[in-house]
Amino acid sequence: MYTNSIEEEKKLLKRLWTEQPVQCPRCGKAQLEFLHKKAKKSNCDWKCPACGEVYRTIRMLKELQE
Ligand SMILES: [Zn+2]
Repeated sequence: MYTNSIEEEKKLLKRLWTEQPVQCPRCGKAQLEFLHKKAKKSNCDWKCPACGEVYRTIRMLKELQE
């Protein structure tokens, strides 16, 4: 998980899926960007341009369901 609680993690996921601006929960220094900016393959994966943390929403969802 990237946040401190399941509720926060769900909120984070929802924002990513609806493509709202999300401040990196790890470093708080930048907004997350698409991991595959040029390919436009999917908007499931995000990356923080400041700290390099990668956010994979599919994996985050799986973690929540475990
Ligand atoms: Zn960051």
